[in-house]
Amino acid sequence: PTAIKPLVAGNWKMNGLAASLAEIDALGAGLDDGMRDAADVMICPPATLVAAAAAKASGYRVAIGGQDCHTAEKGAHTGDISAEMLADAGATAVIVGHSERRADHGESDDVVRRKAEAAWRAGLVAIICVGETEAERKAGSTLDVVGRQLAGSVPEGARAGNTVIAYEPVWAIGTGLTPTAGDVAEVHAFMRARLAERFAGEGAAMRLLYGGSVKPSNAAELIAVEEVNGALVGGASLKAADFLGILAAYR
Ligand code: PEP
Repeated sequence: PTAIKPLVAGNWKMNGLAASLAEIDALGAGLDDGMRDAADVMICPPATLVAAAAAKASGYRVAIGGQDCHTAEKGAHTGDISAEMLADAGATAVIVGHSERRADHGESDDVVRRKAEAAWRAGLVAIICVGETEAERKAGSTLDVVGRQLAGSVPEGARAGNTVIAYEPVWAIGTGLTPTAGDVAEVHAFMRARLAERFAGEGAAMRLLYGGSVKPSNAAELIAVEEVNGALVGGASLKAADFLGILAAYR
């Protein structure tokens, strides 16, 4: 198997005020060489904090990402933010197609695919999220759903260097519930096969993250699963101590 350097990315969602930047300092102070060698570290704060977080994080070799972007570069889209704006503020990546965006804002695979292309246009890495709902898992359609989302949300130009895929079962997000290691292994093996089929060596080298209730106590088990190349972390990324606890699993 190829050696893929894992990525551990924190998604702050709609949490964080200026005072929360202290968590970036605490994260930077707590990162040791073992963690840095083992994994790339990223925080995706709310858009209001991207510039300040990027200014702080560069000194700690922590990358900063956005949580969403519009498909267009600029224009009459009140309240939206473009990938170019995120890049200008110091972000190097952006999450697209998070299940909360798909649910709260009705984002289709087609929209997510165009957002990923917008990310690349601005020079950002696209972190594309996929994952089944509880009903879909119970119906036995997990692989169908993930396969359809991969086909529809991942653009033709996807490469290992510009794209990260995050498998996030919707029922595991923010619930404390996690799939078994075997279930994660099944989905990640499936995603790897689909991506390698479509993008050859680039698909084989693309980072595949697991996301959904990752915390210090379960990180070691989840990140050890075959074809899991890191984690996308929500709740446990808000406090540097928790996030460091997850990163410690990589040492
Ligand atoms: C997420 O929403 O990306 C996520 C993984 O959230 P949590 O870790 O809180 O389940």
